[in-house]
Amino acid sequence: MSTFSLCVYCGARPGSNPSYMAAATELGQAIAQANMRLVYGAGDVGIMGAVARAAQTGGAETFGVIPTHLMDMEVGKTDLSTFVVTETMHERKKVMFMNADAVVVLPGGAGSLDEFFEALTWRQLRLHEKPIFLLNVDGYWDPLRAVLDHVVREGFADPSLLSFVQTVADVPDLMAKLQ
Ligand code: AMP
Repeated sequence: MSTFSLCVYCGARPGSNPSYMAAATELGQAIAQANMRLVYGAGDVGIMGAVARAAQTGGAETFGVIPTHLMDMEVGKTDLSTFVVTETMHERKKVMFMNADAVVVLPGGAGSLDEFFEALTWRQLRLHEKPIFLLNVDGYWDPLRAVLDHVVREGFADPSLLSFVQTVADVPDLMAKLQ
């Protein structure tokens, strides 16, 4: 059986609450302990860098995908097990998603939201059945859950939309659900 690949969408910044970086490091360690492969955006900044360094230190296989124009801005982490450079952002997202068995979203900004919504809308359109998790560090994703509830309540999505997103409180909770 091939290695289970967990795709991590997360911020290119550390955020203002130290719990975010701590959760990122904990997730990287857990990925290594579980013998999973990390798939992510190949940056060495913010939450992205913390997940990757911890996974690497723990001996995990790492698969990163970065577009050419972000190599400097996001400090392309060239020492990953596999380092893929794409021409565009769309290719990056596609290659990351194609190589994943499940997706988890850590605290992040507009880029993480973009990646989350693409995975969610594709799931809604039955283009895939990969599990999507929100790692709700210190309630960071509570407002996002509220927006999704609102969208369903106001009749713009089927209630099944909510079942496509699993919210987990912490890394052990996530790993238990992935087993
Ligand atoms: P952020 O959550 O804004 O810190 O971004 C997290 C990651 O998503 C970064 O690596 C960004 O380069 C990436 N990103 C931002 N916008 C997009 C987009 N439209 N498509 C794919 N990735 C993106």
